[in-house]
Amino acid sequence: MRKIILAGNWKMYKTQAESLEFLEGFKPLLEDTPDEREIVLCAPFTALPVLSKNMHGLRVRLGAQNIHWEEAGAYTGEVSGPMLAELGVRYVIVGHSERRQYFGETDETVNQRLKAAQRHRLRPILCVGETKEQRDAGQTEAHIFSQLEKDLVGIDQGNLVIAYEPIWAIGTGETCEAVEANRIIGLIRSKLTDKNVTIQYGGSVKPNNIDEIMAQPEIDGVLVGGASLQPDSWGQIVNYK
Ligand code: 13P
Repeated sequence: MRKIILAGNWKMYKTQAESLEFLEGFKPLLEDTPDEREIVLCAPFTALPVLSKNMHGLRVRLGAQNIHWEEAGAYTGEVSGPMLAELGVRYVIVGHSERRQYFGETDETVNQRLKAAQRHRLRPILCVGETKEQRDAGQTEAHIFSQLEKDLVGIDQGNLVIAYEPIWAIGTGETCEAVEANRIIGLIRSKLTDKNVTIQYGGSVKPNNIDEIMAQPEIDGVLVGGASLQPDSWGQIVNYK
């Protein structure tokens, strides 16, 4: 059985105080959420300690947005697996398109970060997806297959999560059609040795499209940016029909 995982990616939003305020608003919305859904919040590094301390008894898992491949070292600005694990972090996003686009992340560094996550028993959420130009040029499938091939060298697929995030659908309000996302995710699955990997869709997921997205047979969850920042919209998403 594939696990349903609904993850929020807060990106560079929320101070500690704002994170606590979110948690207070979100707690009551979890009362009727079906048990089998795993709910994850990937917060900025600075908000992780306060969230970790205040999430006891709450069925939300904590996630980070990046991890370095070394355990310690002269890597200014980076954070390592042991540092995250100590805080009770269980998930980590790796290779988000914003890291690839703005911070020089390559398939090789993505692969190293994935390995580090697994060494420290953190569940990586690997992001893959095409640009608008690649889609228009008919290169979507080839690009994603190439990312998978390079990113997954030597990776145990057993605890892996993959998020298909078409870059043109991120933060644009332009969602990939649910049927098309389902098709791409089916293709991604066809390339994996472990067919039980949870594969999410990400890109302008909102309360008004979550039902249609989650009704697709290949889609096992979502990775949500903007709509995970307010308790209200995030509550509606985790409580989809
Ligand atoms: P939006 O939901 O804001 O489009 O962001 C998607 C995303 O990048 C999640 O990682």
